[in-house]
Amino acid sequence: MASVQAMLGGDAGPQGSTEAAQVAEVGAKALEVLRKSISVDVHTHGGPQGIYSPAPPNGMLAAGMRAGSLAAVCLSEIPDEPLLGRNAAGVTGITRWPMPGELYSHHLERLAWADEMVAHHGLQRALTAADLASAHAAGQPSVIGGVEGLDFMEGKLERLEEAHQRGIRSAQLVHYTPNDIGDFQMGVVKHDGLTALGAEVIRGCHRLGMIIDVAHATEQTVKAAAKVSTKPLLLSHTALAGSRAMASTRLAARCVSPDHARVIAETGGVIGIWAIFPDLDKYVEGLKEMADIVGVDHVCVGTDQQVAPGALQDYAQWVHLIAAMLRGGFSSEEAGKIAGGNYMRIFRAAVG
Ligand SMILES: [Zn+2]
Repeated sequence: MASVQAMLGGDAGPQGSTEAAQVAEVGAKALEVLRKSISVDVHTHGGPQGIYSPAPPNGMLAAGMRAGSLAAVCLSEIPDEPLLGRNAAGVTGITRWPMPGELYSHHLERLAWADEMVAHHGLQRALTAADLASAHAAGQPSVIGGVEGLDFMEGKLERLEEAHQRGIRSAQLVHYTPNDIGDFQMGVVKHDGLTALGAEVIRGCHRLGMIIDVAHATEQTVKAAAKVSTKPLLLSHTALAGSRAMASTRLAARCVSPDHARVIAETGGVIGIWAIFPDLDKYVEGLKEMADIVGVDHVCVGTDQQVAPGALQDYAQWVHLIAAMLRGGFSSEEAGKIAGGNYMRIFRAAVG
């Protein structure tokens, strides 16, 4: 703890100065927030050595989480990742159609990669809220299984159940590949929202105990999902459209309007703000922009880590993010909610 406090005071004035004392005090408060609340990055790929990596998993995720006192991450695999690329304008999308079974086998491969990481790098897979609580109490970093897009299902509902058995607890309906579930933000609207299969998928997730993540879905899809869903929704990684703190971004089409955001809040759900801001203070402003619209009980942190430029490329910075929230005007209680308390509320409701 002492070393983290020293680190937090690193760029303050000379030792013993009033400024250094203030920084150390905020740092101590931030650590106290993380001791009291289970903190969660609700959407991450685990950084450059993360789940995208073709190499065997290394220990960097666990090491960073320990260094920054981050309790849990929802590590998202990306079934349609083999199809993705950027067009001439730098916009992400699919570059070809999948072969039958291709995204399912990629999904199984990434699940195995995550299993290996959990087994060999001092991590624990959290399957229930009780798992998260006991791991947090023991100072043990946890991984929540997430899947970014249900394209691996290829219409087969039994694959949802298999994903649950393999530890997936957060299911994002759509990503960049057109599927038979619903429309996504950067694609061609072809379903006018959610399909009948999409509604069945939501009911299936409720039954199994998985959070429904409507990141990437169009506002129309989100509204339809909110009607079908009887549990709070998650929108794991976005920012408020026109965010002044974020400034210009090639991801403008992935941001959400105030109305879009309110749909999530009205289900009792939470909106994760990604870390694509110039620095931590700007990131905190981005959290505030959303909290001003939906209230502080409906905002959380979904870094989408490894997307650059991002204010949080290394989890050792996590405690600094909490300190920035406190410096930026959030109370300790509010910082605890944003850092994980709000997400834990919906996790308990959807997963148990
Ligand atoms: Zn995404």
